[in-house]
Amino acid sequence: MRKTVCVTGASRGIGKAIAVEFAEHGYQVVINCVKRKEALLEAKAQIEALGVPCLAIVGDVGDPAFVKEMFAQVCETFGSVDVLVNNAGISYVGLLTDMTEEEWERIVRTNLSSVFHCSQAVISDMVQRKEGKIINISSVWGNVGASCEVAYSATKGGVNAFTRALAKELAPANIQVNAVACGFIDTEMNRHLSDEELIDLMEALPAGRAGRAKEVGAFVYALAEGHDYLTGQVISFDGGWI
Ligand code: NAP
Repeated sequence: MRKTVCVTGASRGIGKAIAVEFAEHGYQVVINCVKRKEALLEAKAQIEALGVPCLAIVGDVGDPAFVKEMFAQVCETFGSVDVLVNNAGISYVGLLTDMTEEEWERIVRTNLSSVFHCSQAVISDMVQRKEGKIINISSVWGNVGASCEVAYSATKGGVNAFTRALAKELAPANIQVNAVACGFIDTEMNRHLSDEELIDLMEALPAGRAGRAKEVGAFVYALAEGHDYLTGQVISFDGGWI
């Protein structure tokens, strides 16, 4: 029997790397993204080439109606979800005073409400089976806050508190909930940085380089396999940065 992992926001970057890592270890995989269908289908083909089934579903995980539909489809295709990785996220760089209400609502819905919707969709079944893992991809800014990323920091701080609290609620049912708080990982999310900003950043990073999406993937997989006494943790994955 293959296990099933569901990774939100997996058309590229960290989410795709996580999905591929689980596929390499024989998991059947559910991947999702909001817009880039072509990229998602490429990821699906890459995963299927590893010899495992893959379900690719396009839609907004910030929308509760979509999330319900997505998990109904997952349930019909694969039965249950063993590991949920809440990875989908967006950033907003700019002064808080310049942020519109729509932009605020969009980032809260995408980065925080999605974690609520997707977790809620899998919990009942996990509780019945008395096993499951929920892994939230967070950020070091959720721990310490970043200037010009106030809303982003607030959503990731929310994800961190959500993780710690839900872990307590679900520990009696043998479900582990943890977060991986990434530092600077080389993905499209950071393409807006100038060469000068990148040089400054590399100097500030004790590891002397950006993290790789593949490294996050390998770590998330390791966290999902075993470690049943490890729960409620927000683990920084940042090369010693923060
Ligand atoms: P990325 O390359 O920009 O990829 C983001 C992914 O999320 C894409 O697949 C995108 O889909 C999807 N997505 C965005 N909004 C969505 C929505 N409403 N519903 C479903 N999917 C949605 O970002 P990344 O760097 O891999 O980041 C992944 C996660 O790691 C995020 O939660 C981010 O906050 C976190 N993180 C990243 C870093 C970093 O340095 N990269 C650091 C700390 C934390 P489309 O392709 O369709 O747009």
